[in-house]
Amino acid sequence: MLFRRLLPAIAAVAALALTAACGGAPDDTIRGKAEDGSLTIGIRFDQPGMAQRRIDGKYVGFDVDVAKYVAEQFGVPESGITWKAARSADRERLIAEGRVDFVVATYSITDKRKEQVAFAGPYFETGQGLLVRYTDDAIAGPESLNGKKLCSVQASTSAQKVKAEFAQGVQLVEYGQYSDCVTGLLAGKVDAVTTDQAILAGYAAENPELLKLVGKPFTTEQYGVGLAKSDAEGRSAVSAAIEKMVSSGEWRRALERNIGRSGVDLPDPPQVTEK
Ligand code: GLU
Repeated sequence: MLFRRLLPAIAAVAALALTAACGGAPDDTIRGKAEDGSLTIGIRFDQPGMAQRRIDGKYVGFDVDVAKYVAEQFGVPESGITWKAARSADRERLIAEGRVDFVVATYSITDKRKEQVAFAGPYFETGQGLLVRYTDDAIAGPESLNGKKLCSVQASTSAQKVKAEFAQGVQLVEYGQYSDCVTGLLAGKVDAVTTDQAILAGYAAENPELLKLVGKPFTTEQYGVGLAKSDAEGRSAVSAAIEKMVSSGEWRRALERNIGRSGVDLPDPPQVTEK
């Protein structure tokens, strides 16, 4: 009798087990993806200090260290990570299409982006600034950009801010990635580059005789780890990993290692709110 009453439940469990055994519905969570000891993570390849693919094929930078720390909390060592370039305009799509398991790429948390992806964190706070040629004394801040060519990157919050607030007097030039803007600046094709100061400081540190940061930051950007919108457990687990990175002291060590030499003031860790 009891067996008969339990029969539907037994059948349901058996069906579930069978689906899992046959491959069934794929587990799209970070936890599920990490089960085989591997993860694919979207980062930048061209942002010194934050994330850069070095000539020897190694990936270095603060975002890289955050990504490695998070992966490790899911049981995935560095050797199990496949790095994928995630440009500003590609991040939401890479996550939505499952081509990366998460993104750590100077990715500001915004309400608009939250319509498509989830964010864990924030793990870092910076603000938008300006990079100019070292010899340029005419540009001192965003108010002196009238008539100038200003470079930023497609689909970044930096370009959106310029369009919304300085569009009248500034000629905005949009490239695919910031290193192209810097090449344009050095070659005299544009007069300034705008994005987060943490990014610009890395380029200035690589070319201290040629480039400089000017003015004060004029936005607040909070970087989050981007992941699939449906993965609530993943978001909590990544936020917990970030909190652990901060409390263990590893967050500050990573910051000093990667950003310290650029000369910018090292910020304190932000409060993790996306849980
Ligand atoms: N943090 C800004 C953003 O997510 C600018 C930097 C970038 O494009 O990665 O849009």
